[in-house]
Amino acid sequence: MIREGIDRLDAILMTHPHADHISGMDDLRNFTYDEPVTVYGNGETLEGIRERFGYFFRKTQRGGGKPKVKLCQVSTPFKAGGLSWIPLPVLHGQLPVLGYRTGRFAYVTDASHIPAGTEGMLAGLDVLVLGALRYRPHETHMNIEQAVSFAERIKPERTWLTHFCHDIEHAKLARELPAGIFPAYDGLKITLKD
Ligand SMILES: [Zn+2]
Ligand SMILES: [Zn+2]
Repeated sequence: MIREGIDRLDAILMTHPHADHISGMDDLRNFTYDEPVTVYGNGETLEGIRERFGYFFRKTQRGGGKPKVKLCQVSTPFKAGGLSWIPLPVLHGQLPVLGYRTGRFAYVTDASHIPAGTEGMLAGLDVLVLGALRYRPHETHMNIEQAVSFAERIKPERTWLTHFCHDIEHAKLARELPAGIFPAYDGLKITLKD
């Protein structure tokens, strides 16, 4: 975030409470000196944050050396950061995880199964960001083949695959993927159209 010059956060949308997704939360301190930031997520996610970051929610002296965070549980459409968002329930193995859609953009990662009802909420996208772990199958993540076939079914204009493990060589994958599907990269910027 320093490299990308990000000095403001309007809202945080959490997918699930695994360490690779929430362990950076202590660094929110630098973004919340003045105003708290609201973190949206499902019940499991907020419970995970409360458990892991209990000190955020304990009363301390002014300042207190901790981020100011408000938690907001979501299961139906909500507004955050000036945009309307639709939570997208998916399964990460057995764990219920949320993806999110705003307008014609959607973000879904750490899914091994996307229920039919959620797939129905992913029609007509300009951009889909979709988690794909590796080539080999995995119990709790889509692999490249599953993610590509899902993207080809719902046909967003562009799909950015993300959340790769170290089996993936970025340039090689970029060459292998069908038209309209790309490997995402650090620093990728996506502009939302109205
Ligand atoms: Zn996960
Ligand atoms: Zn993950």
